[in-house]
Amino acid sequence: MDLFEKIGSLAKRRGFIYPGSEIYGGLSGTWDYGPLGVELKRNIKEEFWKTMVRNRDDVVGLDAAIFMNPKVWEASGHLEAFSDPLVECKKCHHRFRDDNLGKKKECPDCGGKEFTEPKQFNLMVEASLGVIEGEKQKVYLRGEITQGVHVNFKQVLDSTRVKIPFGIAQIGKAFRNEITPGDLTFRSREFEQMELQFYVKPEEKEGKKWFEYWKKERMEWYVNLGMKKSNLKFHKHEPEKRAHYAKAAFDIEYNTCPDAAVGAGWKEMEGIHHRSDWDIGRHSKFSGKDLSYFDEESKERFIPWVIETSGGVDRAALFFLMDAYEEEKLERETRIVLKLHPKLAPYKVAVFPLLANKEDLLKKAKGIYSELKKHWMVAWDERGNIGKRYRAQDEAGTPYCVTVDFDTLDDGTVTVRDRDSMKQEWVSVKGLLAYLEKKLT
Ligand code: ATP
Repeated sequence: MDLFEKIGSLAKRRGFIYPGSEIYGGLSGTWDYGPLGVELKRNIKEEFWKTMVRNRDDVVGLDAAIFMNPKVWEASGHLEAFSDPLVECKKCHHRFRDDNLGKKKECPDCGGKEFTEPKQFNLMVEASLGVIEGEKQKVYLRGEITQGVHVNFKQVLDSTRVKIPFGIAQIGKAFRNEITPGDLTFRSREFEQMELQFYVKPEEKEGKKWFEYWKKERMEWYVNLGMKKSNLKFHKHEPEKRAHYAKAAFDIEYNTCPDAAVGAGWKEMEGIHHRSDWDIGRHSKFSGKDLSYFDEESKERFIPWVIETSGGVDRAALFFLMDAYEEEKLERETRIVLKLHPKLAPYKVAVFPLLANKEDLLKKAKGIYSELKKHWMVAWDERGNIGKRYRAQDEAGTPYCVTVDFDTLDDGTVTVRDRDSMKQEWVSVKGLLAYLEKKLT
């Protein structure tokens, strides 16, 4: 089993990620997040928002509509050029992205070696709005969340006190008619993005400075949330691979298969793009509205340049799971454990009564559970034996398990077990909150 399969199986078993609409045979490229998955994803988004918006003075947030006037997509170039090269295997007639077939160019499904000529396939998902048949308006589910920010550039300027350089961050769903969805959630048809559009003066030095700044910030964000440095790298887009308006582009890549031949497992997790004046320039032109910026200090008017950081929430969630996954050989068994950063772990603590049929133990444990729940997501488990409960919480990535036993009733101490070291400590019930607070932050 490769890591994608192992994560897929664990994710389903423990309630992180389920295939979309599974009871109806599924729907390709869609995924549903279960009780643990939704917590993981919310934690990722919360950390993004804290780092990128709340803790800064130069970034504000936004939440734009998914449906937008179709002219937006003309201006952004998506209707014309948001496409992938599609080829069809002449033997099994399955369709693939030409650029994903690699140098050998062999059909992954039947081994066929002959393909049709590549055709450009537009990735925008269409929808229609309106109530009268024949008069419905064709719209698109946004293919990226970026444009919702740029069309609001002027409104943000006019309604807040931001001054260039400043950024607008957004998190939200995007939709793409991907030719070959796959590798779990890595390539889905509906997914979430977390982005920053950072507006700077149109000067080479300024653009370069902020591009390097955001490259570093974004890489550090993943490392600070526990991703192993050795599994992360930058991939530079050579000029011929970049959009014509882009002055620079780097991807942060994650190594999904550290054991594989060099390079085989590296996959894009986030892109950092220097988009020059493309976005605001195009929207000025297509909307006929003057979206230029007046700089009070220099008394200059200009179209700002944009440095963008664009990450996938689902890809980040998947790679955080992969990075945290460990199989540890113990004396009598192999322990599967998710060593997720406490900030990302769905549950921070689990509380167990040693025995489920002892009223006083249950009562005491429930009291502790209710108290801790005021502060964190806390799991409760009274099934099976303590060993089994530990294994279940290891697979969920819960950093600490608290067991209430007869000592708790006698001397007021509980056992706290650490997920990573499996070591146990005895902590007084009175000091438990402070103890966990210290450990978790
Ligand atoms: P790829 O080359 O893998 O198709 P992209 O370069 O088209 O990705 P961008 O348009 O730069 O991706 O989107 C920014 C981020 O959004 C990506 O780095 C990724 O994390 C996420 N993303 C893009 N497409 C998908 C998808 N189909 N499923 C899940 N996440 C996606």
